[in-house]
Amino acid sequence: MLKSKNSIKAYAKAKEFIPGGVNSPVRAFLSVNQTPPFIAEGKGAYITDIDGNRYLDFVQSWGPLIFGHADKDIEKAAIKALKKGLSFGAPTEVETKLAKTLCSIFPSVEKIRFVSSGTEAVMSAIRLARGYTKKDDIVKFKGCYHGHSDCLLVQAGSGAATFGAPSSPGVPKDFVKHTLLADYNDIKSVKKCFKESQNIACVLIEPIAGNMGLVPADEDFLQALAKLCNEHNAVLIFDEVMSGFRASLYGAQGFTKVIPDIVTFGKVIGGGMPVGAFGGKREIMSHLSPEGEVYQAGTLSGNPVAMSAGFHSINKILKNKKLYDKLDTLAKALMRGFKESANRAGISLQVCSRGSMFGFFFNEKEVKNFDDALKSDTKRFAVFHKGMLERGFYFACSQFETGFICDAMNEKMIQKTIAAAAEVLREIK
Ligand SMILES: *Cc1c(COP(=O)(O)O)cnc(C)c1O
Repeated sequence: MLKSKNSIKAYAKAKEFIPGGVNSPVRAFLSVNQTPPFIAEGKGAYITDIDGNRYLDFVQSWGPLIFGHADKDIEKAAIKALKKGLSFGAPTEVETKLAKTLCSIFPSVEKIRFVSSGTEAVMSAIRLARGYTKKDDIVKFKGCYHGHSDCLLVQAGSGAATFGAPSSPGVPKDFVKHTLLADYNDIKSVKKCFKESQNIACVLIEPIAGNMGLVPADEDFLQALAKLCNEHNAVLIFDEVMSGFRASLYGAQGFTKVIPDIVTFGKVIGGGMPVGAFGGKREIMSHLSPEGEVYQAGTLSGNPVAMSAGFHSINKILKNKKLYDKLDTLAKALMRGFKESANRAGISLQVCSRGSMFGFFFNEKEVKNFDDALKSDTKRFAVFHKGMLERGFYFACSQFETGFICDAMNEKMIQKTIAAAAEVLREIK
């Protein structure tokens, strides 16, 4: 059994002063009916909570920590930078270094602008696409998450409705009337949007969706999408805030021939510090202020400590030629182990991995879109999650999240995880 006295106390205290006790809703563990462990520290692949429980961490801060917790090289780079001053609000050379590095990796990115979160990156990319095309409507896919800005907080409405309804109070209907919804991996639904509106500025997609569980887009679908955007002078935006430097060195772009017009980044590119970015073709990026007229700004954008942590993370990735092979092998082994254990227990489980990202659904059928994902057995997931946590394995607390392998993990840790999962799956049955 887990000790949880201190976390229970800390959670109650947090709830007095912070709505729901957390600063981002998923952290509250509500969907799995548990008290969230409060974290004391992390080292490598493991985190330790304030009751002294140690967990093998498959969340890795929801993606950013590709080298695991408290990586010495990234830590050193951040400390060296912070000793020279935390922020200037003036240009520093490390911003150009990180920008140049990212532009050299992605053929789709000729210029890039840094912000402080993925939310900001996508919100700004959309403004740029609208300013560039002089059109207002955007297409987003059900089940894709692009941060919490107003016009993107739209999910599946009544299925038939193409135009979205806001999925949160506080978002006026008027704000989302320019957001059209389509079904993931379903090009017909996108064509329908282009038929309904002549005013589409951009199509926004997670090319490997990680926020409805892990659901990669089909290559045919992405190619058809690019063709449609091209025909209608709409900007194709790849949201790689999660998949960037996670699915491969080239993110999702390592899996497709399609070259997007704008790409958004976050998570890994900050090495654990708050960083987001959006970049793309020079012609489009030049419309951004102060070069162009589309306004976008940030007091802490390109913060030198965050940029140093990011720059050293990406450089460490580039130096480590075997990194993605290793992460890919471990993720595949983990998912294979889960699948076999589920089969033996007579439980239907769908598994998937892309590079260091993995996902599994308690579902009878392969998951290709959000509607499929929603048919998963979330009660079963909650039992699985609790069983794993009690055995010292920390997974994202929802059926509809992606898990992450980090470089600090090894074959032995994966085997232990599979053994624990086999035990839990037997008990579920
Ligand atoms: C996490 C995420 C975001 C939002 O990033 P934040 O840094 O949480 O604002 C946007 N898009 C995708 C695909 C993400 O996974």
